[in-house]
Amino acid sequence: MARKFFVGGNWKCNGTAEEVKKIVNTLNEAQVPSQEVVEVVVSPPYVFLPLVKSILRPDFYVAAQNCWVKKGGAFTGEVSAEMLVNLDIPWVILGHSERRALLNETNEFVGDKVAYALAQGLKVIACVGETLEQRESGSTMDVVAAQTKAIADRVSNWSNVVIAYEPVWAIGTGKVASPAQAQEVHDELRKWLAKNVSADVAATTRIIYGGSVNGGNCKELGGQADVDGFLVGGASLKPEFIDIIKAAE
Ligand code: PGA
Repeated sequence: MARKFFVGGNWKCNGTAEEVKKIVNTLNEAQVPSQEVVEVVVSPPYVFLPLVKSILRPDFYVAAQNCWVKKGGAFTGEVSAEMLVNLDIPWVILGHSERRALLNETNEFVGDKVAYALAQGLKVIACVGETLEQRESGSTMDVVAAQTKAIADRVSNWSNVVIAYEPVWAIGTGKVASPAQAQEVHDELRKWLAKNVSADVAATTRIIYGGSVNGGNCKELGGQADVDGFLVGGASLKPEFIDIIKAAE
């Protein structure tokens, strides 16, 4: 089964209600390949999720940027997976490197979140990726494998998981991984899945690339055999995001 191209827009902690409406209007007017060719998901901050969902074109979907690791309750400031399901939010991004680094989310904690969110019926964009120091010391694949293993240890059904390979050194820096660098890790990751999960999961799970993707570099990156799409930060706030969606063609 061919893997459908996936383009996610991670708006991070940006925007006002007015700005968010403007971005959605631009997306709504865009001519993009059909849903058969590309799956498009945008991830506004929590507070804008109902607004974006209510005005966004029906062939694009929304994602939360995080959710709590278990059932809701006395966890001030958190939002539970059940609440996202209740609001019909289909997707959630988990394990983003900004949360791993700034909020000390460990591999195990991220794995627990992925398993819990999936069990509630959410689809998950699970982020993995190495720091510059780890790449330079030659441990990229060990790091990415350990991050993926913490998910694999807790998840048996991968059909609602997209893995986002996002090298930390490429996020928000303008230093995009070369197509060959991205392809190398995606290929290794797929081999890891084949060996440690199953051949079927390796063949069908989408592995998308994130880190300084823009309208200029998306086509070549997206043309790599094992790059099944993108998770886009900065450029997802701009009309350029439409060019990135079109890289699916
Ligand atoms: P960037 O962010 O495209 O701004 O590098 C990507 C991400 O953090 O998902």
